Amino acid sequence: MNEHLSALEPASVWAYFKEILDIPRPSKKEEKIITYLKEFGKNHELETLQDEVGNILIRKPATSGMENRKSVVLQSHVDMVCEKNSDKVHDFEKDPIDTFIKDGWVYAKGTTLGADDGIGIAAQLAILSADNIAHGPIECLFTIDEETGLTGAFGLKPNFLQSEILLNLDSEDEGQLFIGCAGGQDTLAWLPFDKKEVPKGYMAFKIMISGLKGGHSGDEINKGLGNANKMLNRFLWESREELGLKLSSFDGGNLRNAIAREAFAIVMISEENEADLNEFVQNYQEIFRAEYHTTEPDLSFDLSKTEIPDFIIDNDSVDELLNAIYACPHGVIAMSQDIEDFVETSTNLASVKIHEDEILITTSQRSSVESAKIDICNMVASVFHLAGARIKHSDGYPGWAPDPNSAIVDITEAAYKRLFKTDPEVLAIHAGLECGLIGDKYPGMDMVSYGPTIKGAHSPDERIEIETVGKFWDLTLDILLNIPAKK
Ligand SMILES: [Zn+2]
Repeated sequence: MNEHLSALEPASVWAYFKEILDIPRPSKKEEKIITYLKEFGKNHELETLQDEVGNILIRKPATSGMENRKSVVLQSHVDMVCEKNSDKVHDFEKDPIDTFIKDGWVYAKGTTLGADDGIGIAAQLAILSADNIAHGPIECLFTIDEETGLTGAFGLKPNFLQSEILLNLDSEDEGQLFIGCAGGQDTLAWLPFDKKEVPKGYMAFKIMISGLKGGHSGDEINKGLGNANKMLNRFLWESREELGLKLSSFDGGNLRNAIAREAFAIVMISEENEADLNEFVQNYQEIFRAEYHTTEPDLSFDLSKTEIPDFIIDNDSVDELLNAIYACPHGVIAMSQDIEDFVETSTNLASVKIHEDEILITTSQRSSVESAKIDICNMVASVFHLAGARIKHSDGYPGWAPDPNSAIVDITEAAYKRLFKTDPEVLAIHAGLECGLIGDKYPGMDMVSYGPTIKGAHSPDERIEIETVGKFWDLTLDILLNIPAKK
């Protein structure tokens, strides 16, 4: 199987990639790849360690003449996302990944390919097994369960690694060097309420905002997208008194890391206000469409008559809810002072749900600066404190603040220019990477993240561009050649 990969260059990287396609490695079920790596270390007589969570570390001494160089960690994650097309018969815990080549890309047949991050593993193994590549002391770190919990990076102990430089081989756009990422934490608020009897002579309506794009609360928080929770709440806050609205339900958004795409409220009004409610909703649809005419062209805000609900929410609680959601920030809080167009701090008002006799508001904060992350979490919490809510923060994960003086970024940039006669893009992302957690355990670790081009990651459309694997490999070897001497 996968014999066509044997013809590709660099041969050693593709040979290992081909080998690990045969080894099942779903997130949280990584025993087989771990066994393989231990065997690999033993067969190559390399120091091989496993820590308590299951991460593997293989050390290789410097090649002759390179002994005085600083030690470097090359890092990948061993697990892969397991997605397949519905008509594909495949057992990710047993079956090898079957691939094909088309137009310069390697694809899997109906499943994820696992190039994220199998290609990183393959490059590490190719270096560890080589006898013709010059490098200083190397540590290859293989973390577990990056995809579903960052478990390996979370569990990494501060004394496992000996190096001061780390190359993370888990980025997906050749030509881009990543030098920072955001940390995150969720803030949850539970607002209690009393159920009141529905008033006599009132009608019930469902008011709904839909057609928004949604989007990722990290990567897309600066795109000016609408938040359905905020928009619906604004309508309710502004029209409640005038129309004598009673609120029975507020439901918006779903995932904590997505911008709310839809939200609806069940409201009750007296019969004589029906025409006014209609007019109000029309007006707001026009206001919203005008405000979001570029970013949300498919926005729709409308109402429909609905069944009389079982209860309404007591007036004081409605006050607290609508005021808190109105005051709660959403979107970009700060841009980076060091990197152009990079969002440093943001918050997402993700969802509003009714559970029994409480309203649960889920929000999610991100920042590449740890103290700023805590600040925005507190800012959101304080709003809900004022409303009398019970608050809880999730554990969270730390960010990786870009270091404008990073030596390894300079070395990587210079290597890239020398090899490819063009500048790489140097970027940070407003989402999580293992580097945030690793840097937290190893303060001062000088890090950069890069990789070949992978498209469609985490879906059966995942593919890797063959040509960029060669560039990724050449860049890695050149970086290793240029690692400075120990002081
Ligand atoms: Zn990955």
